[in-house]
Amino acid sequence: MKNSEVAKALYEIAALLEIKGENKYKVAAYTEAAMRIENLQEDIEKLYKLGKLNKIKGVGESIGQKIAEYLETGKISYLEELKKEIPPEVLELEKIPGIGPKLAYRLYKELGIKDIDSLEKAAKEGRIRLLPRLGEKVEQNILEGIKQFRQSSERIPLGIALPIVEEIISYLSNNPYITNITPAGSIRRRKETIGDIDILITTKDMERVNEQLLKLPILKNILAAGTTKTSIIVEPGIQVDFRVVEDESFGAALQYFTGSKNHNIKLRELALKKGLKINEYGVFRLSDNKKIAGEKEEEIYEVLGLQYIPPELREDQGEIELAMQNKIPILIEEKDIVGEMHSHTNWSDGMNTIEEMANYAYKLGYKYLVISDHSQALGVAGGLTPEQIEKQRREIYELNKKFKDFRIIHGIEANILSDGNLDLPNEVLEKFDIVIAGLHSGFKQSKEKITERLISAIKNPYVDIISHPTGRLINKRPAYEVDLDAILEAAKETGTILEINAQPDRLDLCDLDARRAKEKYGILLSIGTDAHDIRSFSLIRYGIFVARRAWLKKEDILNTYPWEEVQKRLKRAKLNAKNL
Ligand SMILES: [Zn+2]
Ligand SMILES: [Zn+2]
Repeated sequence: MKNSEVAKALYEIAALLEIKGENKYKVAAYTEAAMRIENLQEDIEKLYKLGKLNKIKGVGESIGQKIAEYLETGKISYLEELKKEIPPEVLELEKIPGIGPKLAYRLYKELGIKDIDSLEKAAKEGRIRLLPRLGEKVEQNILEGIKQFRQSSERIPLGIALPIVEEIISYLSNNPYITNITPAGSIRRRKETIGDIDILITTKDMERVNEQLLKLPILKNILAAGTTKTSIIVEPGIQVDFRVVEDESFGAALQYFTGSKNHNIKLRELALKKGLKINEYGVFRLSDNKKIAGEKEEEIYEVLGLQYIPPELREDQGEIELAMQNKIPILIEEKDIVGEMHSHTNWSDGMNTIEEMANYAYKLGYKYLVISDHSQALGVAGGLTPEQIEKQRREIYELNKKFKDFRIIHGIEANILSDGNLDLPNEVLEKFDIVIAGLHSGFKQSKEKITERLISAIKNPYVDIISHPTGRLINKRPAYEVDLDAILEAAKETGTILEINAQPDRLDLCDLDARRAKEKYGILLSIGTDAHDIRSFSLIRYGIFVARRAWLKKEDILNTYPWEEVQKRLKRAKLNAKNL
């Protein structure tokens, strides 16, 4: 069917007419015709051959001729003429927040600006402010808009995308016309960054859903609102695609649109070997095209002879082979976590008191909370001196008298200095219940040097956990250069635990590294939120996502154990045993 091609050409005509400042009814006529054709059930070529183009609502004589021309020649001369007048790249300018069609056209006509790069250049050179009625303010807004646009064209961190999806789904949750609504794609696989957001819907009336979406508080604009697909842009400039699927294909569509591509390719091959065909509508027998599964996602795997595969594992990294043998591991879940391993209070750079943090952790149902404020070398974060540490220990001792079934653990996040030493002597470190050590400076050192520093900290008998082991910040700062295998080897030899830092911009170790740490080196990992306020305890789920994508089970994560069991797994336990 050429329906979507034809629709696209008509949308393009509408956009170019709009830029030219043509009569708005003319623009609307092309937009409407494009939308009707996009949502048409019948094949437009068939209608044309039957001479029934005028039966399509919104298609009059003039638009009908253009459609006919497209179907005959693959081109519309009217569109070609428009393109000669305005290069289609000018349409790109409208992607910049604050630039509408009128301004885009003026920038092109009066300054010859054809794309975003030349727009940026003109703004920086102060040429836009010279145009009548534009001025410096507009120029500044354009530069700000370009910055926003460039940021939003990067992949979106899961920590930004997931709350948006949850907001949209909760906003639509009271819509009586929706029977199913769920995210698909990389967001459902909990990848650390997302391209576009895909949401699947089953509904009896998508037009009603579209009506409600028009009032979505975070809506920026609507790109297309059809009965099979709707695309919108939400603050802060993120595209969300809604795909409407049938109830009886919901499971198949969910499986298909969840991906990953490689996982699905392998499933398709497996299906063919079994005489089956699999697509977004269902699983079909090749012999008679009979549909044998599709409503529930679990069925898709079942009819292929596979154990159900959790979305986080669907990356074609060995999961299909294991599912054939019924050996998919039982992955860790959020409810398995019984304590928080990494948190900061207002003793250093946190927002809340120890007591507030403890009360909140207790309310969440945790059995313990590790307070791990920064130590003295991190002056900017109010790092603690040995004297302050003594005072803090007394406060924790007193507070612990208040709790039953819950314990505040006195820890520290010590700094690994540029020579590999820690910023507190061993006599101080030994008195903590647990010691976390991390790199917070000197990221630009050579790979050898940074590796040496970390290994030297790992070899310290009082360092139990290394926090955020690679130092990366997603979309902001790459990991420092480090020989990760040497680090993993040293951690394995010394029994040092490595952290999965659950801050959404860290997620460090990442999924692949965490999997390697466990599978190749047998290293125990901990998940810490690095909370600097009570609200951040909830970030634990992002650490769980990483752990699940790393194939980790409950027993692979330190803070699924009760505190007494945690203690036995710390290096200092061996040291204490020796000293007895
Ligand atoms: Zn840190
Ligand atoms: Zn920290």
